[in-house]
Amino acid sequence: MQRQTIERQQLEQDLRLAISRNELEVYYQPVVKSETGRVSSLEALLRWNHPKKGQISPEVFIPIAEDSGLIGEIGKWVILHACEQLSTWRRYGHEQLTMAVNLSSRQREMGFDANFVQEVLSKTGLSTDLLTLEITESLLMRDTEETVDWLGNLKTLGVNLSVDDFGTGYSSLSYLKRFPVDVLKIDRSFVNDLPDDPESVSLVNTIIAMAKSLGLGLVAEGVETQEQVDFLRAAECDLLQGFHYGRPLPVAALTDWLDSDRRASANG
Ligand code: C2E
Ligand code: MG
Ligand code: MG
Repeated sequence: MQRQTIERQQLEQDLRLAISRNELEVYYQPVVKSETGRVSSLEALLRWNHPKKGQISPEVFIPIAEDSGLIGEIGKWVILHACEQLSTWRRYGHEQLTMAVNLSSRQREMGFDANFVQEVLSKTGLSTDLLTLEITESLLMRDTEETVDWLGNLKTLGVNLSVDDFGTGYSSLSYLKRFPVDVLKIDRSFVNDLPDDPESVSLVNTIIAMAKSLGLGLVAEGVETQEQVDFLRAAECDLLQGFHYGRPLPVAALTDWLDSDRRASANG
C-alpha cells in the first residue's frame, strides 16, 4: 500500500510538469451515423505520453488530476486543443464535423465556466452548437444548486450536454428533469453483450425508447462487431462509437481516417 501511495505521489509530481513538457496529447475517436456509417462527430480523449512509463491511460491519471486539482489546468488545455483542431478540420473540408469533450465535476471550481468556454469558442471561430460537453451520471447526482447553475449557464451559452456512461451510475433518473441534457451515451457494458444476451437487449431497448420519448439524442459506446451495428441500427440508435468504426487516434492518423470517410461518402 505504501508503495502504491509513493507511486501515486510520483505520478502526481510528473503530471504537474506534463503540460509544460508537452507530454499530453489529445486523441480523437469518430462517432458515426448508424444509418450511413459516415462520421458525425469526434470525441476528444486525452493521452499522457510519459517519458519513462510510456502511454498512461486516462483511467489512471484523470483521477489523480481530479484529486490534486490539476484537472483545472488540464481540462482547459484539452478543450482549447480540441476546438483548435476541430476548427482546422472544418476549414479543410470537414464542414459537418462537431466535437465532444469530457468534463469532470471538479472543473466547476476551477474556472471552467460559460465565460471561459465562450472565450475558447470565439478564439477558435466555432459556434457554440458545435461543442458537446460529456458529463458523468455521478456528476449529475451531485445535485447541488452550484452544479445546476453551472450546467445551466453552459447550456444557455448554446453548447450541448451529454450523459456519458449512461446507466452505470445511480439509478435515479430524476436528474434528467433537473438538468438540460441533450444526449445519452449508452455505456459499453450494455453494448458489449448485444445481440445474444436477452438482458442487455432489454436494457438497451428500454434506454432507446426512453431517450426517444424524452426527445434526447443517443450514442451507443463500445460498438465492436457488425452484429452490434445491425442490432443498434434496427433499434434506431442514431449514433455509434467504437473500435468497429475506429479507435481513438492521434491527429495525423485521424486526418487520414476522415479523408477516407469523405471519399467513401462521395462514392455513394
Ligand atoms: P469515456 O469518455 O467513456 O470514453 C470512452 C472510452 O471507451 C475511451 O477510453 C475509448 O478508448 C474507449 N472505447 C471506445 N470504443 C471502444 C470499443 O469499441 N471497445 C472498448 N473496449 N473500448 C472503447 P479511454 O480513451 O481510455 O478513456 C477512458 C475515460 O477517461 C473516458 O471514458 C473519460 O471518462 C476519461 N477521459 C478521457 N479523456 C478525458 C479528458 O480529457 N477529460 C476528462 N475529464 N476525462 C477524460
Ligand atoms: Mg466520454
Ligand atoms: Mg463513456
